[in-house]
Amino acid sequence: VQTSLAKSVRFEGVGLHSGAPVRMVVHPASANRGIWFRRLDETARDNLVPAAWDAVQPARLCTLLRNGAGVEVSTVEHVMAALAGCGIHNATIELDGPEVPILDGSAAPFVAAFLRAGLLRQAAPLRAIEVLRPVEVRRGEATARLAPAPNLVIDFEIDFAENAIGHQALRLVMANGTFVRELSKARTFCRKADVDAMQASGLALGGTLDNAVVVDGDRVLSPGGLRLADEPVRHKMLDALGDLALAGAPLLAQYTGHRAGHAMTNAVLRALFATPGAWRYRLCDPALAARLPGMGLREADLSAVA
Ligand SMILES: [Zn+2]
Repeated sequence: VQTSLAKSVRFEGVGLHSGAPVRMVVHPASANRGIWFRRLDETARDNLVPAAWDAVQPARLCTLLRNGAGVEVSTVEHVMAALAGCGIHNATIELDGPEVPILDGSAAPFVAAFLRAGLLRQAAPLRAIEVLRPVEVRRGEATARLAPAPNLVIDFEIDFAENAIGHQALRLVMANGTFVRELSKARTFCRKADVDAMQASGLALGGTLDNAVVVDGDRVLSPGGLRLADEPVRHKMLDALGDLALAGAPLLAQYTGHRAGHAMTNAVLRALFATPGAWRYRLCDPALAARLPGMGLREADLSAVA
């Protein structure tokens, strides 16, 4: 069955790129509604922005959505990953600015708040998107691929010259609470040189050593270092889950990303939906639903993130 939240959940923070304060409330929504953003500070234009792959616009270092009226919401990927990872299918996300708050740079604060609020099972059948044929996109050395699989599997590999990151690879089956336990605490990371360049061009103005892991060559500059040695590849997997959630329904597929980022994940979704016969909707019976992300999560699973 479909799932929403038992009650509304409130967040306050700053946007990573804008640096501006933002308040956000995630509300329950009725079955078959899906995930929508609503910009409360936009009153003259249509302020509802769909969490949909075809609303994604090119952006640097985050996922940005824009509706037909030109109203935008950026940095949606971590809250989308938290919703997908908790198996929440219907929600309305109100915010009073253009960017989702970055909080600690991971999805853990969203997950913790959602599990504390409780999940609401809705009396409506759930459908998944089953990938039937592989699709792949390549840009330079980066690739992103979707292939048939009985569960959502995320397989990711990164390769950075900085020794503090280096080569990292991980493959996880996203069934049940895997996302909450294995990925939700992994924080955004970036290189010191990139931070300097971004801030010079007016980006990452809200970035601090408290909401992003900053590395410089062999060194991790953020106090306390990494939460896990392979925190960077885990964060890339978190981002991938959030970007894949824009498909609009849980995916039954293996996603393989090599040096991929937000744009590549969106490109492979676009390729999937543009390829006749590459996918179909599949109504979930209880056995199939049990293989999806977030199914069976309880408040007790909070101990993994709180
Ligand atoms: Zn991210």
